Amino acid sequence: MSASPALDAILARIAAAAQAAGRDPSGISLTAVSKQQPWEAIEPVLAAGQKVFGENRVQEAASRWTGRRQGLELRLIGPLQTNKARDATALFDVIETLDRERLAEALRAAADAAGRLPRLYVQVNTGEEPQKAGVAPLEADAFLDRVRGGLGLPVEGLMCIPPAGEPPGPHFALLARIAARNGLERLSMGMSGDFETAIAFGATSVRVGSALFGDRGAPAV
Ligand SMILES: *Cc1c(COP(=O)(O)O)cnc(C)c1O
Repeated sequence: MSASPALDAILARIAAAAQAAGRDPSGISLTAVSKQQPWEAIEPVLAAGQKVFGENRVQEAASRWTGRRQGLELRLIGPLQTNKARDATALFDVIETLDRERLAEALRAAADAAGRLPRLYVQVNTGEEPQKAGVAPLEADAFLDRVRGGLGLPVEGLMCIPPAGEPPGPHFALLARIAARNGLERLSMGMSGDFETAIAFGATSVRVGSALFGDRGAPAV
């Protein structure tokens, strides 16, 4: 018996969505978004074999995972301040929220100092929402050129968070087009409410929090 029926259910939904889209389910990975969750909610999912976890704050992630991260993959999915680039570089295997040149420079410097570079995703603000992080869609190609060419940072893929209250499909399709024309094969897109749609549009990793762990507590201030 699995330690986590909730994890089994999400993995089954991912597999079904992949099948419906004519895709191999092994090409889609689950990022379990553990931010703001109590350890009692995370523990059974970890015990059931989940290895990839997503966090949106460097400090919170460090306090939750330091000493426990052996064999796991930690992904930063929240905005990263330039002054936390070193801490993030030390802790995370993947940073999904690269979205400005200053941050790319800080990550380059942190990686050179640490001798360790996390895998990087560029976040695209597909809905061009002023309050949301991410590169504007029309600036994405030039930004990728500067990051990859100018700074010599490899980029693994793209990430987006569609606007709440809009059909997500066009945003996922836009992200997939930007990735394709830049030779990128990985797409981090889809959350609890829309990961099956994201899989239909080519997601290679989906970020699922509340559907897996239950509702989050109030965010720490
Ligand atoms: C919180 C968060 C998620 C998970 O959201 P759920 O709706 O709980 O699945 C996914 N991606 C990002 C960037 C997040 O901040």
